[in-house]
Amino acid sequence: MKPAYIALGSNQGEPEIQLRKAVIALSILPMTQLDKVSSVYRSAAVGPGTQPDYLNAVVRLHTELSAIALLDALQEIEREQGRIRTVRWGPRTLDLDLLLYGDETTTTPRLTVPHPRMQKRHFVLYPLCEISSEKLLLPDGTQLGALLQQCSQRGLVKTPCQLPVSPTPQDG
Ligand code: ATP
Ligand code: CA
Ligand code: CA
Repeated sequence: MKPAYIALGSNQGEPEIQLRKAVIALSILPMTQLDKVSSVYRSAAVGPGTQPDYLNAVVRLHTELSAIALLDALQEIEREQGRIRTVRWGPRTLDLDLLLYGDETTTTPRLTVPHPRMQKRHFVLYPLCEISSEKLLLPDGTQLGALLQQCSQRGLVKTPCQLPVSPTPQDG
């Protein structure tokens, strides 16, 4: 089982509901256990034009899926939640990014791990630290704590939204 960290983001279609649905979908992936779920954070969108604020969170999975199979599964969940790819960095119902996959480094046209833009994003680094540790090491040996020192938390607001930690048990 590999530990994998996934970033969730939404700024369309009732973002809190999108994140809740995504966590449930992640929790029932095959050969995978959802382990930790961060708080939900709000921040202003970076991207073209004026967009609604984002809600973001990070989860940790343990999975036997390969990194590319996990990316396939993430993109399927995005599609199921109505993601339409139009403008790059435009508004979206759901964005799922594979941040880290064990200590593996992958550079292919479809998949780059660690996620190449995670290192400067407060909405990724702070929730990631919440469910791991400042001592978390990236594959190149960088400590998460060192990245946080260079990344201001300004503009990132922890919300009281609660995400499910495991699927709702079904009665009967
Ligand atoms: P950013 O990558 O800057 O966060 P984005 O999430 O808006 O931007 P998308 O349009 O969701 O970008 O994804 C573009 C492509 O990035 C996807 O089709 C996917 O193949 C590729 N990709 C490469 N590495 C990753 C990764 N680690 N996680 C998710 N997608 C990735
Ligand atoms: Ca993204
Ligand atoms: Ca993405």
